[in-house]
Amino acid sequence: MSLTRATLRPDLTILTMSGILDARPRVGYFYIGDHRVKDLVGDLFRKYLVKDYKSLPIVVQEQTSVYDAVVTMFLEDVGTLFVVREEGTLAGVASRKDLLKVAIGQSNLHEIPVSVAMTRMPNITTIDLEATMYDAARKLIEAEVDSLPVVRVDGNQQVEVIGRITKTTVTRLIVELGSLRNI
Ligand code: ADP
Repeated sequence: MSLTRATLRPDLTILTMSGILDARPRVGYFYIGDHRVKDLVGDLFRKYLVKDYKSLPIVVQEQTSVYDAVVTMFLEDVGTLFVVREEGTLAGVASRKDLLKVAIGQSNLHEIPVSVAMTRMPNITTIDLEATMYDAARKLIEAEVDSLPVVRVDGNQQVEVIGRITKTTVTRLIVELGSLRNI
């Protein structure tokens, strides 16, 4: 490489500071693996909280028809609807494919309630307001779902939906962190 030591030094300093390289007198720079980088990323993500990144939940009632649920998905531009009981507590989650599954049957979509298509409580993976964005990202991956209801559980174990975290929310945070340098 036709690079001088002076040209390389700032880059080597950054790599040393981020824990990828170590520098020893008389040995020089050497590679020490990427585990510290992973720690850095993990620590960074744990600094951001669900309560600061959540978006508004898009909810429908249990008795809403599958037809109206599909229309709501289009109008609200979301891929997942949270289904709530009359008193507003979480009853389930209906995804695009849940609704498609019903739609490719022979049924009348105006007559079938969304509650027939949804995944029901208690089989819903949720996230607390005070959790970190790392917890949210991990839950999205482990549950293999696109979105998590952000919830508050009251004294009677009733689950109230107060927000939503999606794969897009996590991606937006990554882009935000990646573009800090350009601000
Ligand atoms: P899609 O079904 O459109 O691929 P998802 O991957 O999000 O969307 O959903 C896969 C399945 O998991 C669906 O049956 C859906 O009802 C269910 N599901 C979606 N979100 C959750 C969640 N947070 N907890 C439990 N199940 C969920």
